[in-house]
Amino acid sequence: MAWQIDGMPSPDPQTCEAKIEDVWRSISMAEAKGVYAMAPKRCPACHGAVMLSGSYAEGSRQKFTHRKGHDGCPLLPARFKGTASPHPQALV
Ligand SMILES: [Zn+2]
Repeated sequence: MAWQIDGMPSPDPQTCEAKIEDVWRSISMAEAKGVYAMAPKRCPACHGAVMLSGSYAEGSRQKFTHRKGHDGCPLLPARFKGTASPHPQALV
């Protein structure tokens, strides 16, 4: 339900989508900051653009954050209004 789950000892299975050779593919956090660091990335739920935030230090917690949040994304529990809708500036 959330990008970030506090109190979890193991790494979160976080994913986003990256545009690779014109195809959106689901990628992992490790890929997002590694081989696909330069690829456009979007939220798998609302398709709004996301970026990695957090420290690059080894073992620190990183997460995907929307460049521009909106209230129709279930992955933004703090803002979600209860009805999923596409991001107004969704990447296609
Ligand atoms: Zn979203």
